[in-house]
Amino acid sequence: MKRDIKRIAVLTSGGDAPGMNAAIRAVVRTATYNDLHVYGIMEGYKGMINGNLVRLENKDVANTILRGGTILKTARCEEFKTAEGRQKAYDSLVAFDIDAVVVIGGNGTYTGAYYFSREFNMPFIGLPGTIDNDIYGTDFTIGYDTAINTAVEAVDKIRDTASSHNRLFFIEVMGRHAGFIALETGIASGAAATFLPETDWGIDELLSMLKKAAIRKKLFNIVIVAEGNKNGDANELARLVHENLDSYETRVTTIGHLQRGGSPTASDRVLASRLGYEAVNSLMKGVENKALGIVNDKLHKVDFWDAIHKKKELNQEMLQMLEVLAM
Ligand code: ATP
Repeated sequence: MKRDIKRIAVLTSGGDAPGMNAAIRAVVRTATYNDLHVYGIMEGYKGMINGNLVRLENKDVANTILRGGTILKTARCEEFKTAEGRQKAYDSLVAFDIDAVVVIGGNGTYTGAYYFSREFNMPFIGLPGTIDNDIYGTDFTIGYDTAINTAVEAVDKIRDTASSHNRLFFIEVMGRHAGFIALETGIASGAAATFLPETDWGIDELLSMLKKAAIRKKLFNIVIVAEGNKNGDANELARLVHENLDSYETRVTTIGHLQRGGSPTASDRVLASRLGYEAVNSLMKGVENKALGIVNDKLHKVDFWDAIHKKKELNQEMLQMLEVLAM
């Protein structure tokens, strides 16, 4: 039998990502439109355990669509990994008469939702909020587009100074386990080489590219490296190039947390709005314990288990293109 959903709670968890506010706003507005009440849970699962819930009305989310970060704050919460912690969290939700929960976050957030929804009779819906784009079941995650735009803007600026001084810049972008940010930053910034966790490229390939470029007198000044590159991070690759080809003056720049911040791009705002809207609609239709995404421009739902355990693959054609265009 379909549940009668009257009060929903929403939280953001894990790393923050630009567009999370747009998703919260869409949840609040869609719920209010349908005469549901919304509570914001502060600081992710930590706030769920501590009963830190605040009522959210339409006016509370006014002017938030353009803001980076998350108005609900986020936190890492070890206690939620324990059955006792999740019991406390459930008790808080019951105390606030919550009927369903929307969680916005990455893989860890989905893992928490998966365990919780197995233990308690409380429907969860997950929305993919992470700059890394490494979540199965959606073409893009909320925050990814903003992150790559920020990275490309930074690389463009570095290119100006790199060309002026004839230096070789190694620019580290985020992505400990996945190369989505590196791949698209590499393509969009026209990098001479891009290193990411999904390939086996290392210093040998790089030295060979540099030698070929020298013969052709090709300008070779920007190398993008994902932080999780298997065969050496940006510092290591820069050091090895300098050791092997001392004609190169190398510099390393880590874009770091700049990639997490800033006003979300229009694409991220639209994606987040669609997903927030669909989260509430799905709950009202009786959908339970699913991670939502957009695939080929259509709403897509997968079980939390699949979202957590299935690997989202890099686009292999884009990977090949990256090599061709960098020649
Ligand atoms: P990001 O991709 O930005 O790192 P994330 O959602 O993967 O986001 P995590 O810090 O891994 O970020 O997870 C967020 C929270 O989810 C954790 O602090 C914890 O409260 C909860 N969580 C993670 N793993 C588990 C688990 N195995 N069991 C229960 N809860 C978990």
